[in-house]
Amino acid sequence: MRLISTRGRAPAVDLLTALRRGLAPDGGLYMPTALPPLGVAQLDAIDAASSLSERARLVFAHLLASEIDGARLEAVLDEALDFPIPLVELDARTHVLELFHGPTLAFKDVAARVMARLLPMAVAPGEPLLVLTATSGDTGGAVAQAFHGVDGVRVAVLYPRGRITDVQERQIGTLGGNVRAFAVEGSFDDCQRLVKGAFADAALTAELGLTSANSINIGRLLPQAVYYFHALAQLRAARGREVVPFFVTPSGNFGNLTAGLIAHRLGLPAAGFLAATNANDVVPAFLETGRYRPRPSLATLSSAMDVGDPSNWSRIRHLFDDDLARLRATVEAVPVDDVATRETIEEVARVSGYVLDPHTAVGIAALERHRSAAGIGADTPCIVLSTAHPIKFRAIVEPAIGRPLDVPARVAALDERPLDVAPLPNDLAALREALLGG
Ligand SMILES: *Cc1c(COP(=O)(O)O)cnc(C)c1O
Repeated sequence: MRLISTRGRAPAVDLLTALRRGLAPDGGLYMPTALPPLGVAQLDAIDAASSLSERARLVFAHLLASEIDGARLEAVLDEALDFPIPLVELDARTHVLELFHGPTLAFKDVAARVMARLLPMAVAPGEPLLVLTATSGDTGGAVAQAFHGVDGVRVAVLYPRGRITDVQERQIGTLGGNVRAFAVEGSFDDCQRLVKGAFADAALTAELGLTSANSINIGRLLPQAVYYFHALAQLRAARGREVVPFFVTPSGNFGNLTAGLIAHRLGLPAAGFLAATNANDVVPAFLETGRYRPRPSLATLSSAMDVGDPSNWSRIRHLFDDDLARLRATVEAVPVDDVATRETIEEVARVSGYVLDPHTAVGIAALERHRSAAGIGADTPCIVLSTAHPIKFRAIVEPAIGRPLDVPARVAALDERPLDVAPLPNDLAALREALLGG
């Protein structure tokens, strides 16, 4: 597989180079030069496969040919994708794909765990590697957990102090070892600015071997394409081989949706894709008006989707050659406010007993709104991607459903470990010093 920059002014590279670099040298994002569709026999084999990692192997084998040794790739995928991603029926027309059974209880585990095992293959022995990541909550934990204990790799996570949930903070700040956590005096945007500032310093980047594990990195997207096939296979096992579902993806930086659209190009049968956003509605507004107007992000209940200028949107435009009509034929978008998010959590729990986290609730609410606008055929089954376990957002979910949630053992265990977090002023010189000092 060859990858080129969305800005088109950088040479094509192989996957490991794109992983190592994160951003292309022209400032664009890497995308595969071609996404040849899987053949009928390959799609059948993916349907018939018995596990997530076997499906991943079939998709990656198609994309990568011989760039990574087959046995090694198989081991990477088996180790990384060792947790279930079940499809749960909510009602006759609506299914929820539970992507939150990994170590940090959010979908970001899927790609972070694959990436943590591929990235070391992209550096020479002895070469330094420091994964520097800004997080609004979930990315930091997934990346820290995935790289924890990986030889020769250091991790630094920057998060906005006081603006992530208690569970998220403990997932980042209790690992220790090769993982360092920094609580920044500022917002998520400030954290991102600091990280960008560090990357803009070529000497620092070279000395520390800086790389990014945010979803600007193509390594974060390709593994996610796999679970769209995994969802379809489970739906077909329950509903018959002919069903073609409609996918709903709660979206912030739009990496997850990009992965779905990549899967679609590879031949995933889909009736369409709905991007569900919170009040940060730059993409729904763009699809309506044709004008892309980034804005500073607004704080909402679904905080992991509080993004005012989604970086992966340029990948989606690239996929559709910037042709708005073609894009609109495949992708629709609906924004959902906090009132509807809370009501959806309450109502779904009351009617079906199923508990949604706020991000998944945005997906369900967007789907309901889209259905009542007659946007989806009455018989079309819908798959809503569930991006996080409700316990990560218990301060929102528990009051909405009026009862306490059961605490998974993995979360309870976090309370037993000491929190080790360094405060960091919102200042690039301080970040430099902290990174060079450790
Ligand atoms: C990161 C995240 C999202 C948004 O995903 P994108 O790929 O950035 O669109 C949605 N929900 C949760 C729980 C997340 O952690």
